[in-house]
Amino acid sequence: MNQDTICALATANGVGAIGIIRVSGEKSFEIVNKVFEGKNLEKTKSHTVHYGFIVDGKTRDVRPETERKEEREKKQALSEDASTPLSMTADNRQLATDTKEIIDEVMVSVFHAPKTFTTENSVEISFHGSPHIGAKILEVLIKNGARMAKAGEFTMRAFMNGRIDLSQAESIADLIAAENEASRKVALNQLKGGISQEISVLRGDLLNFTSLIELELDFAEEDVEFADRTALVALIKRIQTKLKSLIDSFQYGNAIKNGTAVAIIGKPNAGKSTLLNTLLKEERAIVSNIAGTTRDTIEEILHIKGHAFRLIDTAGLRDTEDEIEAIGVQKAREKVSQAEILVYLAAANSGDFTEDIRMIQSLVREDLELIICLTKIDEVVPTTFDVIENQFRDALDTPFDFIKISAIENRNIQELKNELSSYVENLKAQEGGVVITNQRHYEALQKSLYSVTQVEEAVSHNITTELLAYELRNALEHLGEISGEFTNDEVLGNIFSKFCIGK
Ligand code: GDP
Repeated sequence: MNQDTICALATANGVGAIGIIRVSGEKSFEIVNKVFEGKNLEKTKSHTVHYGFIVDGKTRDVRPETERKEEREKKQALSEDASTPLSMTADNRQLATDTKEIIDEVMVSVFHAPKTFTTENSVEISFHGSPHIGAKILEVLIKNGARMAKAGEFTMRAFMNGRIDLSQAESIADLIAAENEASRKVALNQLKGGISQEISVLRGDLLNFTSLIELELDFAEEDVEFADRTALVALIKRIQTKLKSLIDSFQYGNAIKNGTAVAIIGKPNAGKSTLLNTLLKEERAIVSNIAGTTRDTIEEILHIKGHAFRLIDTAGLRDTEDEIEAIGVQKAREKVSQAEILVYLAAANSGDFTEDIRMIQSLVREDLELIICLTKIDEVVPTTFDVIENQFRDALDTPFDFIKISAIENRNIQELKNELSSYVENLKAQEGGVVITNQRHYEALQKSLYSVTQVEEAVSHNITTELLAYELRNALEHLGEISGEFTNDEVLGNIFSKFCIGK
């Protein structure tokens, strides 16, 4: 158990109706009692809320109980008179001028160990949300024995005291950062232990085998085999499948966490900026510009069915009439290289699509989703649509979706949105239930998969039991990194320092 009692502002720094200061540690009640005028917190029930005042310079009452009782009754009589608030009783006024200063009128929530977030005694002080008041309350708490919490220290204590594992601690950071429905759900699932459960089942299976293999090492001279090699290989195959599916889910996890990158490309006048405006029009309220240091890196965010799509580098689309000429094929390729989806626009009335086809051929790659959008369909007769589509189908080897739109008449824009959205839905369909969103987990899973595959090779090549045991230990360690069973201070410091103070 950590001896320090820590405190920090838990709400955002700024003016709000209410601000909350969190205190956690063995001496929480003792310390807050020194600055809280109201109930003795040590005598309260857990999970209760109490009204009172935070004061600076409160002195311990050392008078005999009879004298204190008399005063309490006098106070009681005065405060029963509704026109006299507690803070304005004669006695209070007297005390205020003598020894103390009232900082704020507050509500204090009390949580007794061990059923608290950190598993320690904890107090939350709700005050009138002025940053100045918050700072003053922190100051008196520190004056009375608490210390300022470091970034993420409350969550770190929850982890250190065994209430949550590391991946759950990380999911708390994700939950706080959740900007859309999908991220919220995935973070919440992880907080409930989703990924930890999957990992712990895998580890359990591996651990059993490792014990058997290590037993063999103890009996090395007798040349016995406790671990059935065929069963071990079968188990490894099962583990590999699980690990791969978790690793694959990272693509969806990434889409949830960071959004899906979309490049909109097409010849000048294909209708790119018009489409962009149409797509973003309904979204004005939630559209945000992520401005980098230069105009070049501006991205617009489009939300479809709870998923975010980052429209890559659309700055040019708004500025120049002649995008491809202005930015060049090279720049278009750079844009597409950052994208997961390419929306290629070709104007239905252009007559000749040779250049478009050549452009697409130079841009496609295996892991790029291609959507060809025939624009300005209001300008041509519908019978030409199929003819044009066939030209693209005949010339291109890559699979693609073909959508016919008119941005000006708002035709089939929804279809395009559905198509974008189904890309993310398909990623979701590929994974089982648990979604990896964290780079650190992703890397640990890849290392685990690598070491499990090494085990498989060791078995198939009849390599020594020592080496097998070593590889198995390796895999166990990497899997343990995710839940925090195997970790070191540097990794922990790195994870928790990314949290804000007060979390
Ligand atoms: P960009 O150079 O690819 O960004 O193309 P713009 O969006 O600037 O469009 C070029 C011209 O085509 C403009 O005059 C637009 O009004 C027109 N345009 C764009 N989309 C449509 C459409 O769906 N139907 C019609 N009829 N004209 C369109």
